[in-house]
Amino acid sequence: MNIKPGAMIGLLGGGQLGRMFTMSAQCMGYRVTVLDPTKDSPAGNIAERHLCADYLDYQALDILGSTCEGVTTEFENVPAEALRYLMKYCMVSPTAESVSIAQNRILEKQFLAKHGFAVAPFAVIHHQQDISSQLDASLLPGILKVSRFGYDGKGQQKVASIDALSQAFASFRHESCILEKMLPLDSEISVILARGHDGQVTYFPVAENRHVQGILDMSIIPARIAQETIRQAYEIAQQVAACLNYIGVLCIEFFILADGQILINEIAPRPHNSGHYSLDACITSQFEQQVRVLCGAPQGSTELTQAAVMTNLLGDLWQDNEPDWHRVLCHPTAKLHLYGKREARPGRKMGHFTVLAATADEALSHAQAIKHALQ
Ligand code: ADP
Ligand code: MG
Repeated sequence: MNIKPGAMIGLLGGGQLGRMFTMSAQCMGYRVTVLDPTKDSPAGNIAERHLCADYLDYQALDILGSTCEGVTTEFENVPAEALRYLMKYCMVSPTAESVSIAQNRILEKQFLAKHGFAVAPFAVIHHQQDISSQLDASLLPGILKVSRFGYDGKGQQKVASIDALSQAFASFRHESCILEKMLPLDSEISVILARGHDGQVTYFPVAENRHVQGILDMSIIPARIAQETIRQAYEIAQQVAACLNYIGVLCIEFFILADGQILINEIAPRPHNSGHYSLDACITSQFEQQVRVLCGAPQGSTELTQAAVMTNLLGDLWQDNEPDWHRVLCHPTAKLHLYGKREARPGRKMGHFTVLAATADEALSHAQAIKHALQ
């Protein structure tokens, strides 16, 4: 093991993914320093040290680099430059290069297409002039997505005509975008894997994901899809990780079409919301695996111990009061996770709960009943 328990490890980003990473790291005896520009953040509040500074504050990066033995990220929008800078001090995973591809939808799509991976048909739109009668009409109706900083369906607009596309592009202040053909999705799944410095790869069980208004609502595990599709998804995910020379935890989101075709939607260079179930339903969670890979430790078993359904708790549930958590906790196999965010806003991820059961269908019916009781 390169980094031993007791050491300080660094984390860029202070959100909920970072909080769950920090908890896993602390559980194994590590200490954590979080760099995040917000004063009150889910991970910053529980870490041993919080550097409250911009991601490109070089003084803060110098402190992080010189006091930590390894650094990772929980947020794909950290400037890749910050990761590159830290590499002169210590172990950094994932690399600046992987993050710079995953954080930009244009580079991401071009990278995937160049390596022969199937993605939704798309066009790159940099300027108003790119929207003309020359544009491939078969991309409409489509979804216009800003190339940077979009998440949870933000920075996306459905467009059905050239006029609507122009308007949407103007509403995004002419920032570079991807126009993607709107596809009839049969289902959505995600593969989370971890790839170590030695090239060893472990895969988490495939999650079947349901979205509401572009935001993940539920993940169902194991995914109720053909074994052959699962095998293909693992194979594609492994190839993407290899093409990126990836080290760390990586999530690949897939679209599955009615004819069984499997396309890559997007990649995330970090643990993923659709892998939160692993905290309660796998021998090793995605966060513990991120700690292990960063520290050069052997990876743990990702075996699923029970079927599970994870449900996100969005700020919409708060309305006037805190929801009544007994409605979750009265179910003996439901596990509640709250991220300690003080302000609830519509669409903001405040926490999640995971229900365990003998089968995915059984877990789903319990999760739906709990969700209904909370509303
Ligand atoms: P985000 O970064 O917000 O997760 P995604 O590109 O994954 O952005 O889009 C969010 C969701 O919107 C997807 O999970 C899917 O449900 C829907 N979506 C996105 N692109 C398409 C598409 N080309 N066709 C159909 N649905 C799509
Ligand atoms: Mg997505």
